[in-house]
Amino acid sequence: MKTRVLILGAGFGGLELATSLSEALGDEVEVTLIDKGDSFVFGFSKLEVMFGRQSSREVRLPYADFVKPGVRLLRETVVEIDPQARAVATDAGVHETDYLVVALGADYDLDATPGLALGGSEFYSLAGAEWVSKLLPDFSAGRIMVGVCGAPFKCPPAPSEAALLLHDYLSRRGIREQCEISLAMPLSSPVPPSADTSAALLDAFAERGIAFLPGLRIGSLEPSRNVALLEDGGELPYDLFLGVPKHRAPDVVIDSGMTDDGFIPVESSTLETRYASVYAVGDVTTAGVPKAGVFAEGGARVVAAALISRIRGEGDSPDYDGRGSCYIEFGSGKVGRVDVDFLSGPKPSGAFRPPSELLVAEKRRFGSSRTARWFGT
Ligand SMILES: Cc1cc2nc3c(=O)[nH]c(=O)nc-3n(C[C@H](O)[C@H](O)[C@H](O)COP(=O)(O)OP(=O)(O)OC[C@H]3O[C@@H](n4cnc5c(N)ncnc54)[C@H](O)[C@@H]3O)c2cc1C
Repeated sequence: MKTRVLILGAGFGGLELATSLSEALGDEVEVTLIDKGDSFVFGFSKLEVMFGRQSSREVRLPYADFVKPGVRLLRETVVEIDPQARAVATDAGVHETDYLVVALGADYDLDATPGLALGGSEFYSLAGAEWVSKLLPDFSAGRIMVGVCGAPFKCPPAPSEAALLLHDYLSRRGIREQCEISLAMPLSSPVPPSADTSAALLDAFAERGIAFLPGLRIGSLEPSRNVALLEDGGELPYDLFLGVPKHRAPDVVIDSGMTDDGFIPVESSTLETRYASVYAVGDVTTAGVPKAGVFAEGGARVVAAALISRIRGEGDSPDYDGRGSCYIEFGSGKVGRVDVDFLSGPKPSGAFRPPSELLVAEKRRFGSSRTARWFGT
């Protein structure tokens, strides 16, 4: 009988893992990849949708185009995970497996910030970004707050990107002077592991009159008064609140008993969970790296190498190094880059590449190379 690998979640991590296994092992293994959705969307595409640069339809990459030897991609919803038995129930049946990899990402917990669902608009989901793209054209004057309601959150530079792109958007419409933009977040600086990146972002905010409000904990929103209430008792007024909700693992993962403090703890170097032959990659984990696609992908490659080596009965496979490059939209048609290293040194570090048009092209290639690798398009 062929070895079975069951991957839950066809996001950044799951797609890369299934692709790497297929490339190395083809039909030698039986890989099953499960996702409840019909398509993949890059996180950064949500900013494109939010500002009307692309439509939701344009950014969806249909799973129907993910065709790999040895891999079945099933559209099912995972409803129960038993990590001890390596058995997973979905809305269509039960799957048992030799190796289980949980790559179900992070969910947004709007209820954890009372008032957010009613008084704010999140832009971290595709539906939320689409909703904001419909609200923005009707906004012509007032205070817009980009507010991060908790940490950790996906792609730490994304709220800064949203504020900078918002400046461009309002400027293009000729209404920038009638609007105030602020960015409130619990972090002490925009990108804590890289002082140079944070300094460049702070300069960009200052040049554009964007108020950066660090170290703030937004406890709730009071929609009747249009204020965000801070945990320390302060208040921040707004007319439009563009929110990043608190994150946590999907309910089905929490109900499985695999999580501590909202996410799955893993051995950072191997991405193994505390259950035998059960791994977890990407945003669903606490792996000592940020929640970003590039880290989900790096983790997936390490798990792929470990599984290939175990299935072939070979020796050790490489450890996860926690390195990745994140592209940052600086507005004015420029993109910067931060190359971060989370695990190899005594503390995380990040080297900054200043914004340029060259990096716009590099970011485009980052997306198109993954699209070609996973979807052949
Ligand atoms: C605005 C924004 C900008 C971003 N920009 C960048 C960037 O520039 N670079 C970068 O590297 N990252 C970026 N990210 C972050 C990136 O999108 C995520 O970190 C990445 O997608 C995480 O990959 P993952 O595989 O862990 O989870 P995901 O890609 O979220 O995949 C999880 C999958 O699990 C599926 N799923 C969940 N629950 C179930 C269930 N019960 N049953 C079946 N399927 C289920 C989901 O449908 C989903 O397809 C950005 C994110 C946002 C919101």
